[in-house]
Amino acid sequence: MTDLRFDNAFVRELPADSDTSNLPRQVAGAAFSRVDPTPVPAPRVVAVSPEVADMLGVSPDRPGFADVFAGNARLQGMTGYAMAYGGHQFGHWAGQLGDGRAIGLGEVLTERHGRQELQLKGAGRTPYSRGADGRAVLRSSIREFLCSEAMHHLGVPTTRALSLVATGESVVRDVMYDGHPAPEPGAIVCRVAPSFLRFGSYELPSSRGDVALLRRLVDFTIATHFPAFADLPGERGYAAFFTEVCERTASLMAHWMRVGFVHGVMNTDNMSILGLTIDYGPYGWVDNFDPDWTPNTTDRAHRRYRFGQQPQVGYWNLQRLAQALSPLFTGVEALQAGLDRYVEVFEATDAAFSAAKLGLAHAREGDEALVADLRGLLLTGEMDMTIFFRDLASLDLSSPRTRSVGEAFYDEARRGAVEEALQSWLQRYAARVRDDESPASERLALMHASNPRYVLRNYLAQQAIDRAERGDDDGVHELLETLRQPYDEQPGREHLAGRRPDWARERVGCSMLSCSS
Ligand code: AMP
Ligand code: MG
Repeated sequence: MTDLRFDNAFVRELPADSDTSNLPRQVAGAAFSRVDPTPVPAPRVVAVSPEVADMLGVSPDRPGFADVFAGNARLQGMTGYAMAYGGHQFGHWAGQLGDGRAIGLGEVLTERHGRQELQLKGAGRTPYSRGADGRAVLRSSIREFLCSEAMHHLGVPTTRALSLVATGESVVRDVMYDGHPAPEPGAIVCRVAPSFLRFGSYELPSSRGDVALLRRLVDFTIATHFPAFADLPGERGYAAFFTEVCERTASLMAHWMRVGFVHGVMNTDNMSILGLTIDYGPYGWVDNFDPDWTPNTTDRAHRRYRFGQQPQVGYWNLQRLAQALSPLFTGVEALQAGLDRYVEVFEATDAAFSAAKLGLAHAREGDEALVADLRGLLLTGEMDMTIFFRDLASLDLSSPRTRSVGEAFYDEARRGAVEEALQSWLQRYAARVRDDESPASERLALMHASNPRYVLRNYLAQQAIDRAERGDDDGVHELLETLRQPYDEQPGREHLAGRRPDWARERVGCSMLSCSS
């Protein structure tokens, strides 16, 4: 494990906070503050992602693994730091935020996956903790660990998770913010990504008029993470960088819509500059298709971050990034061009994903209406999105029947209300597919690669959490195993592919989550 090759470019090349105390404060003129994890009493490894361990070249069986990834011990080359960043939260500028409980350990140079930064989430207080404790609870750590790995295996860009370690310490949280604080088991996830820089990392120096720091951050980001643009002169390099961020964010939004993922807290401090899904909090998966659904109870009133609004919010967030970067540009044209590119890429990618979900090799005129009509039916029929698309592949095209997708219905009355319209939609769809001329085997392969059988339904995560809180980690292991092959049928695991049970419809943790984590 000591052969990890650290190359800590971020802390080496960017300015550090000169104050090394760990008191909450405003940090100006620096990209980060040096801080070490606070030790925990009894670290115990709950789960490890085999793929991430392999990517980094660490063996979970090596002695000391739990101590290192709980922050109790440091490998040679590791260093501790918390990043400074700000953000727009729920539409309003919130000022300095920063890593309040995530502590960077350094960047590893891997053999096949380039630079990978390690970060412990829940590792203790930092200068950015404000009044909070710097810790994370087991329930939200399980959710982050499982979901980031599930997203990766679904083909959705995301930060990864190496390990989930229980700390042996309790953490007090008021789960629904209703005046009932209670102790819960604590945990630490080791997150892994080429970089954890966020839109808010650039917004903070820009908001303070610190253009020198802003420029250093952008130059560093381009040189380290977008080297293709490093040789473009001045503004052209910045423009290419911003456009690339817009394109990646557009593609990310299309992916979220494809798999039915709702982030829940798309504040600009939770938007990765690399276009990765980052900061898994009160996220959720759509069961019955509903663009208005949000898992985040903190956002219940306005539903700003509801499922169907994510592409618009992605654009709004990029506008905030454009504003932050504007001191590096002489005019707004290049930034506007990047934003326009966002719209183009989102529309093209979303159309391509929608066609692929239906098994259509090439989108063509009229498909948009086919997709729009289907979305209307899924909504009024209260149909399960994941089951519908997966089962659609088994439709008999010569004699399409609604029973092929019957498992997707939650409610008989709703089924009755759309049955006829659905029947005629299926006929239209079958005719369109017959017209497509791509061989059946190719169509099925395309559908099976676009429509997962297994996603991390909210109630499944909650069941694994309930078991883990009683000391049984097997629910976590079973989900991790299953979600490593989300597009494969896995005999014996049908119970993880069914509809959300009725009891889970309005249960805390299953359909209602808060930011308390
Ligand atoms: P989030 O909503 O998780 O993206 O967090 C927003 C901000 O609050 C970030 O700056 C976090 O680091 C900080 N934060 C959230 N929870 C804690 C905690 N338990 N201790 C310290 N800081 C926290
Ligand atoms: Mg965050």
